[in-house]
Amino acid sequence: MKNNSEEVELNTCGKCSKIIPFGQKYFSIVKSFEQYVRETPTSEAEIEVDEAIEVVALCEDCGICFNEENLAAILKALPIRGQEGRN
Ligand SMILES: [Zn+2]
Repeated sequence: MKNNSEEVELNTCGKCSKIIPFGQKYFSIVKSFEQYVRETPTSEAEIEVDEAIEVVALCEDCGICFNEENLAAILKALPIRGQEGRN
């Protein structure tokens, strides 16, 4: 049984800073390291998540306004480590 008096840190929206209360849906942008795996050469491929790091959590109001295509475009335009300033 879980101790109800245990201090639990609530998520805060990474956009508007609003606290995200228990029981409320929120959006999470996660950097995950994954690989395709197969039990046998003929079985269906599955995705195995090795590690998942939350980059930002957004409250439902902010997250629902987020455009995934814009986010993907921003990420693709960002230089990766060691490539800053290259064209
Ligand atoms: Zn928000």
